[in-house]
Amino acid sequence: MANPTPAFDVKLVQGKLVTIGYLPAGGDDGKWGGGSKRALIRFKRRAAKSLYRISQATGGPADCAGSDLFTGAVNDTVDAATITELDKWIAKKWKAPLGRFAFKDITGGKLREDVADEWTKLVTRIKGLGGTIDSPYGDTKRRPGRTSKSGASSFSFHIAGRAIDIDQALGGPPNHRYYIKKESDGTGTVWRIYCKTDKQDGAQGKQYKKGDVECWSFWGKKAYQIPEGYYIDLTAEIEASGQFERIRAQTGWESNTNKSEWWHFQWKPDKQETFGDELELVGYSEKDLKAVGYTEADLDRKPG
Ligand SMILES: [Zn+2]
Repeated sequence: MANPTPAFDVKLVQGKLVTIGYLPAGGDDGKWGGGSKRALIRFKRRAAKSLYRISQATGGPADCAGSDLFTGAVNDTVDAATITELDKWIAKKWKAPLGRFAFKDITGGKLREDVADEWTKLVTRIKGLGGTIDSPYGDTKRRPGRTSKSGASSFSFHIAGRAIDIDQALGGPPNHRYYIKKESDGTGTVWRIYCKTDKQDGAQGKQYKKGDVECWSFWGKKAYQIPEGYYIDLTAEIEASGQFERIRAQTGWESNTNKSEWWHFQWKPDKQETFGDELELVGYSEKDLKAVGYTEADLDRKPG
């Protein structure tokens, strides 16, 4: 029996999924197929793993408390707990958090609104220390779509507006500000950026003598010694609040500088379990993402 008759009222359950935005209007066709099952799994994952909700009434944020999270399993089973959770969403007037966050302009780009606000504060704070993470940026928010560009991921946090690439040009002459040290995080290669301060009279930064830090030249593909001068540990300053983080270099960075990722910083809090869930928060529906070439398997991948 390939498709047994479900032991629940299919149309009724589908109707609830329509109300809370997990099935499109008219999706209550009474047939419990792949689309309905996928909608149910997406609903349960959001209900169990994430506090983000929007209001059916206003479309604005209606995030829930940790104690409101669904405690059942994330699967396509319709049991009593599933119906109770669906009814809870309807009673609380919650729906899928499609577009929970807007994008917002920053000087030199665009980021998710909460990320944009914190980045802008960080730009000011770093400037106050004599360093810079000002624009131009290599990249901020990126359009969704499959890419074959070297070093770029089709599932990047840039697409969700959670990542920013600082100015690569400052990593070498003629306006050399970033001096980049290779480190290991135990699993792979990461980078620490020392930023030469505006003032070199001791009023800003910390003094380093030639030889205090061994830096890596991506152009010369060799190590060199940091020149004597005053610097801030830019990576430590960016990571200080716990909101932004660096990432590992991709395999093959030694021969392909595009893969080194030394310029990439991303928003650390509340990473979603899937790429699709991440993009839902910034307003891209599954339909939108399929239209630009993503498969369901793509959408179910870990973001990043
Ligand atoms: Zn990046």
